[in-house]
Amino acid sequence: MQIDSTRLLETMAQAVFANARELTELDSAIGDADHGLNMERGFQAVMAERDSILSKPLPEAINALGYMLVMKIGGASGPLYGTLFMTLGKELPACPTPSDLGRSLVVAGVAVSSRGKAEIGSKTMLDVLLPVAAHVASGTATLDSVRRLAADCAKATVPMKALRGRASYLGDRSIGHMDPGARSCEILIDAVCDVLAGKP
Ligand code: ADP
Ligand code: MG
Repeated sequence: MQIDSTRLLETMAQAVFANARELTELDSAIGDADHGLNMERGFQAVMAERDSILSKPLPEAINALGYMLVMKIGGASGPLYGTLFMTLGKELPACPTPSDLGRSLVVAGVAVSSRGKAEIGSKTMLDVLLPVAAHVASGTATLDSVRRLAADCAKATVPMKALRGRASYLGDRSIGHMDPGARSCEILIDAVCDVLAGKP
């Protein structure tokens, strides 16, 4: 499938900007109230380098986006989202099939997991990323089923106790709140689905 890099970058950035306040509120409950600000800063830097990023073919553009996030986001999420996009950039061909997308997402999920030493159930972005990657790789996914799974997995972090990241310092007090990174991952997945659906 042909993925429009401009639409991909703009749609993800707009989704982050539109939801930054909510992400920061989620992080104020179990972290240090900066996840939305971090993501916003990262994608502002990406948009500032928009022309240079978009002059590259899709895989290199996604890799450059990841590199910007690592450079510009101070928090834990910078290197982790950076690893996600840089790995996707390395794995994806210029014109990926759905099966390329699934395989690349699985490889990227494993890379994020080993970078952060977190797994499913640690109450992090991986609780959305890993199940969605496996679902896309299964070959049975539709855009709607991907969106639904991402939303359900983000919600499923509410009763979890955080085992990694800043929220883990709270122990049992991290229970009862959605993980901010799980929600940002859902938001980015939803944005990618909008692009793949050709939504204006
Ligand atoms: P910080 O925690 O440094 O303030 P952010 O607030 O930007 O960084 O990001 C917090 C999010 O990062 C968490 O909600 C969680 O989803 C994710 N996260 C934190 N540590 C890890 C980890 N080790 N592995 C995977 N994700 C993590
Ligand atoms: Mg934070």
